[in-house]
Amino acid sequence: MSIRTNHYVIDLPFQADDLAPYISKETIDVHYQKHHKGYETALLDLISVKEQKNKSLQDLIIHSHANPDRRIYNNAAQIWNHNFYWKSLCPTATSQHPTKGAFFDAITAFGGFQKVEMDLLTAATSQFGSGWAWLVRTENNQIAIRKTGNADPVWLNSADHPLLIVDVWEHAYYLDYKNRRKDHVESVLKNIMNWSFAEQQFNAA
Ligand code: MN
Repeated sequence: MSIRTNHYVIDLPFQADDLAPYISKETIDVHYQKHHKGYETALLDLISVKEQKNKSLQDLIIHSHANPDRRIYNNAAQIWNHNFYWKSLCPTATSQHPTKGAFFDAITAFGGFQKVEMDLLTAATSQFGSGWAWLVRTENNQIAIRKTGNADPVWLNSADHPLLIVDVWEHAYYLDYKNRRKDHVESVLKNIMNWSFAEQQFNAA
């Protein structure tokens, strides 16, 4: 029985039908209500009330990643990744590339938004099995693309600062795209990426 003293899962920053037709309301509902909140239910059963009160998700991830028992790590990391994922998405009307500023300059130095999107697509489609594709700011304030497997957050074993994330677990797209991961990711990248969130993350300490 879970005792909820802490809500690790954020509220969705948009309505469940706001991303259609690129991601359907049905997919968002199942993904958020069942998968994301399911990780929280599982996590709360694994940690004490004291830990729930005193530990952030980041603390839990850092302190559990070396445990042979992966359950706390996997559930905490998946909650963190999904919180970041919802913020990485936005309705089409607000999905616009910045046209000036430090983030724009870093993207330009990388090769431009088209190259970012191509490389994110390659990372997403070449990740074997479940995982995540990431846009990050490196230690040197440059743009880079990464991929991680299963629940691994990109920041755990690196100095990378995440800017955007793309979920490539099948549950993110199977209801809408069946096995066509590439079509799903292309659609997300072209239509519903929250570039202003990425820019805020880039400018954050
Ligand atoms: Mn997911």
